[in-house]
Amino acid sequence: MEIRLANLKWPEIAEILKGPNVVLLPTGATEQHGPHLPINVDSCCATYLAEQTALRFTSGQPIRALVAPTVHYTEVDTFKRFPGTIGISLDTEIRLLQDIVRSFVGNGFNNVFVVNGHSSNTIPINTALRQVSSEIPDAGLYAANWWSLGNLRGLLKSPPSLHAEEMETSVCLVAEPELVDMSKAYAEYPSLSLSGRWATPDFYGMGKSVFYHSRKKYPEFGKGMGIMGDATTASRETGQKIVDAVVGDLVEIVKEIVKSEKTAEHVPDRP
Ligand SMILES: [Zn+2]
Repeated sequence: MEIRLANLKWPEIAEILKGPNVVLLPTGATEQHGPHLPINVDSCCATYLAEQTALRFTSGQPIRALVAPTVHYTEVDTFKRFPGTIGISLDTEIRLLQDIVRSFVGNGFNNVFVVNGHSSNTIPINTALRQVSSEIPDAGLYAANWWSLGNLRGLLKSPPSLHAEEMETSVCLVAEPELVDMSKAYAEYPSLSLSGRWATPDFYGMGKSVFYHSRKKYPEFGKGMGIMGDATTASRETGQKIVDAVVGDLVEIVKEIVKSEKTAEHVPDRP
């Protein structure tokens, strides 16, 4: 069954919209990921995980989960000095996401679920969904950062880090193995202005703390080659375990979204 929205004709979409449905919107980035990974890693991982989720959810049941075209251009300020890192401003990203989500809701989609692959998107996504939700209270809007799902820390051989490391490299070895050059992988942990003790798994997710480094004090991360963490421990085997764990959680979320829609009329209004 086709799960890519872009491959459907409009009468097919009209039929799907007559029943309960969920559209997954992958969000990524066009950003350097070290000398061993392509610049599309964040988009690639989010898209792959969303597609695997839609396939697993949709098989054997009439309710459709579709995957929308991925948002590739987002805010990438941290690495903008690297060739191939192409971004838009935070304001533009918030407006872009608002417009896309508004359009889905206006088009008749019951639920929009943003599957995010780029940590800097966390705040724009949350802001955009909050804004659209206040405008259109009937809209079902959801978002998750994939690396926060699946209890992944136990699957990693290296201490968790931030960027182009074991986790992203391993997923990329499953999703786009021909684009990975493990001979150029290396390990380096950046020094941060607050220790890992205060960092959240979501980094920008406002758990224990949020921090933006002084660029004067921390002008570069590590060797300046673009990896933050250990990419050498990555493997396809670990990648498949990560994919299974994350997709398992994403499918559970989609099931709860659909279930909540079926019982929505019984839920009292929030005060
Ligand atoms: Zn990334």
